[in-house]
Amino acid sequence: MSPQLHNTVLISHLFSNTPNDEDNGNLPSSFTEYFRNYKAETKIISEETTRSIELCLKKGDLQRAKSVISDALRVIDNAPINIAVTGESGSGKSSLINALRKVKHSGGSAAEVGVIETTMKIKSYEHPKVKNLILWDLPGIGTPKFQPHNYLEKVEFKKYDFFIIVSSTRFKQHEIDLAKAIRIMKKNYYFVRTKVDSDLQNEEKCHPQNFDRKNTLKQIRNYCLNNFTGSNIGEPEVFLISNYDLSDYDFPVLMDTLIKNLLAEKRHNFLLSMPNITEAAIQKKYNSTKQYIWLNALKDGVFATVPVVGILSDMDIEKLKKRLNFYQDLFGVDDESLTFMAKDAQVPVGQLKKKLKSPYLLEFKKEETLGGLLLKCLEKFASANGGLLATGLYFTKTYYLEFHFLDTVAEDAKVLLREAYSKK
Ligand code: GDP
Ligand code: MG
Repeated sequence: MSPQLHNTVLISHLFSNTPNDEDNGNLPSSFTEYFRNYKAETKIISEETTRSIELCLKKGDLQRAKSVISDALRVIDNAPINIAVTGESGSGKSSLINALRKVKHSGGSAAEVGVIETTMKIKSYEHPKVKNLILWDLPGIGTPKFQPHNYLEKVEFKKYDFFIIVSSTRFKQHEIDLAKAIRIMKKNYYFVRTKVDSDLQNEEKCHPQNFDRKNTLKQIRNYCLNNFTGSNIGEPEVFLISNYDLSDYDFPVLMDTLIKNLLAEKRHNFLLSMPNITEAAIQKKYNSTKQYIWLNALKDGVFATVPVVGILSDMDIEKLKKRLNFYQDLFGVDDESLTFMAKDAQVPVGQLKKKLKSPYLLEFKKEETLGGLLLKCLEKFASANGGLLATGLYFTKTYYLEFHFLDTVAEDAKVLLREAYSKK
């Protein structure tokens, strides 16, 4: 069969149940079906927005559906996230901020680590990849210029989405009082105990015979919690972390908790900012990005009829290349990250790349073309979402490739993570 004929057969097969333009009666169920896959705490649009889109689709008001989705996407793109990090000097605030910004400890705009703060000023750090996410390095409560009675006013508490209260020893009364005040202001706070790696090390050194890692961590936790008895704040969750090893201890749980408590429309930006520290983190970033592509695809495709497959314009190809690079950058599979990782593992970068698929996504052998890849992506999408396609949910063609790029890049990120661990 000639490739052209094959294309036609495949397409007519895929869309044999496609209803005509007017008949979009099944779109709402497709939309609902897709977004129902996600738990409320992992969705990037609110329940209210979800319902509003569903309703428009149900009424057949595609113009309105498109506009609600556009608005939702605009809100997601522009959602500001301001994170306050407070704690005594030396507690590890700057290190945590650097970890959350995934900026190495030296050079550039990294928060200075290990510097005794003398001026006691509030400093802000923009996330290098997510411009709307700003981390605020606040002086600890009780320092001369930031006294408890007006601390929250002085730090302009209103602008923060939540507060992270950091300590490398135990939480002080001022800090517990601060948490109470934050709650009164209807904001969230999280108690984070840093440097547990060094506590474990010390304990092991002092008691090599009966050192028990789990037990030591439990002791640190209990010691922290003891400070809260009688504080009528209840027993808060305390996250034990090491700024040097984010994939271990409670850092992943802290991330999950932050995501869950954030407003739905802020989740996507927060997830984009997250370091790719565990498979679960990669998966969450993937899920969020997938929802984002779905919304964009729906916005652009709600009017589409049967897609014309095969030909992609130069503009499509340019756009796709950009998207691929964006995903690679997002998941740490970009050239710079690969070079860095290869250097770290002392292997040639080519050797590392060979384990991955995304670097070769847009490299075609003689008989292959991008159009051919598009067909494969359509087939893949159809088999994963067959029911949806049959009900007339189809997207502008480039989106099928975008889904495939995202899948491939996220898989590569997991391969890299396993690779990094096998070297440890
Ligand atoms: P800040 O004054 O609160 O900003 O604290 P820094 O981030 O400057 O950290 C103070 C010191 O503690 C520095 O020497 C850091 O390298 C060290 N440090 C910070 N976090 C950790 C951690 O999780 N584990 C260990 N072992 N040291 C840490
Ligand atoms: Mg500091």
